[in-house]
Amino acid sequence: MPNFIDDSPPGACIFCRLIGGEIPAARVFEDELTLAFMDIGQVNPGHVLVAVKRHAATLLDITPDEAAAAMRTARRVALAVKAAFDPPGITLLQANGREGDQTVFHFHLHVLPRHGDDGVALSWPRKDPPRALLEEYAATIRREMR
Ligand SMILES: [Zn+2]
Repeated sequence: MPNFIDDSPPGACIFCRLIGGEIPAARVFEDELTLAFMDIGQVNPGHVLVAVKRHAATLLDITPDEAAAAMRTARRVALAVKAAFDPPGITLLQANGREGDQTVFHFHLHVLPRHGDDGVALSWPRKDPPRALLEEYAATIRREMR
């Protein structure tokens, strides 16, 4: 059962079509489990997406090996992006679910070169709850760890 709503029609996944070569992509790197390619949106020059090759919608749907491979590929790409474009910062972004700002429901993460004046922003409304509530949240999550 999918963990988040994915209402895209079956067979219509744009990343599956891209990975399969049905639609073109500016490919950067691939290994057994992942493919890295240029984001057509290019928020900043050198903006790369790292996707798992198997169709899986979100972080909650990929295997531990796929998760590890995605981060290995992201690190390799980030090193190359730094060398090629020399951005002063790099942000990794990975979104899950529509409310998590995911727009393509096939697991991927962004390797995004950053500049001080690039207009990229993530609203971060801190709540700073009492320590006891943090402990309660932690205990609730620990019960679900397995
Ligand atoms: Zn897919």
